[in-house]
Order: sequence, then structure tokens, then C-alpha cells
Amino acid sequence: GYRSRAAFKLIELDDRFRLIRKGARVLDLGAAPGGWTQVAVERAGAGGTVVGVDILPAAPVPGATLLQGDLTDAEVAQRAIAALGGRADLVLSDMAPNTVGHAATDHLRIVALAEAAMELALAVLAPGGAFVCKVFQGGSERGMLATLKRHFASVRHAKPPASRKESAETYVVATGFRPGGA
Ligand code: SAM
Repeated sequence: GYRSRAAFKLIELDDRFRLIRKGARVLDLGAAPGGWTQVAVERAGAGGTVVGVDILPAAPVPGATLLQGDLTDAEVAQRAIAALGGRADLVLSDMAPNTVGHAATDHLRIVALAEAAMELALAVLAPGGAFVCKVFQGGSERGMLATLKRHFASVRHAKPPASRKESAETYVVATGFRPGGA
């Protein structure tokens, strides 16, 4: 069984966009409790490499490397890159900050996390790679979208059926990474 209901969101996104190739190197940001990591390990298969990062501890996922730390900490990002052993084919971010209930503050934190995930993706992806990132509608991701469109052949939004309708979360799915931009 999967550790999180969230696992089904990645299954649906992957069924639709064919993101997780056999043998892929996958970086999973905001991995705890490990549902997406489980799906990534299953689908990347024995030749794949899956590295998860989260501030929170998570029980080991066989076949994956889980690192505990804050992704916005450069040292943690470096450890994740080292554990991957090469450029990533896919960077996933299901990260969500702990909200404080103050709308403007929460909003800034959400945008900052998504941007941190994007910056890391731009730094570690192999040409042709893909990036999937949780964003929130009403989020001021315009700057982020412009950057993604420069660096990826295709940028789409998708709300998987397993994501609750009343939730503002949605996912940006960017494929066909071009390191130098368009
Ligand atoms: N995809 C996961 C799964 O299927 O089990 C669920 C992820 S949960 C919705 C979001 C996670 O993002 C939380 O576990 C949280 O600790 C993590 N997170 C938030 N900010 C983070 C940061 N700065 N660095 C690393 N992880 C972070």
C-alpha cells in the first residue's frame, strides 16, 4: 500500500504525461511520508535512482535514498545532488510550507518554495528532463511560468483527479528541458 493519498496524484500525473521512465534519476522534493517516492521507485524500476528530501523524517523506502533537511538550505541541496550521482531526468516537488494562517505570509512562503524547487530543477536536470511542481491557484507564479517557458519545450497545468476539488493546489508539468533556454 502507499503511505499517502498523495501517491495517487503522482500516479495520475505519470499516467497522463509519462514522466517516470525506466532507469530514470528522480529527485523528489517534499518527500515525506514517502508516497511519491514509492511510486517513483516502482516506475523507475531496478535501474532507476530515486532521492527524496524532506524537513520531516520519513521511514525508509526500499530502493530510494531519503535525506532529511530543508531544501532551501544549499548544503542540503548539494547532498541531494550528490546522492543522485548525475543529472536528474525528473524533478518532482510536492512541497508545501506549514501555513501560519496569515494569507500574505503564507502566500510568500508558497511562492518561495516553488521557486526554490524550480531553481534546483534548472541546475540539476539533464537536457530533455522534466519538472513537476505543486503550486497554488491565486499564487503569483507568473515570473516562474515565464522562466519555465524559456527553459522547457512544454509547460502545462494539471489538477489530478485525486487532488480535492476544493483545494487550491494544482501542478505545473514542464517537459523537454533546454539548459540554455529558448
Ligand atoms: N508527496 C508526499 C507523499 O506522497 O508522501 C507528500 C508531501 S506533503 C504534501 C509536503 C511536504 O513538503 C511535507 O512533508 C513538508 O515537510 C515538506 N516541505 C515543506 N517545506 C520544505 C522544505 N523547505 N524542504 C523540504 N521539504 C519541505
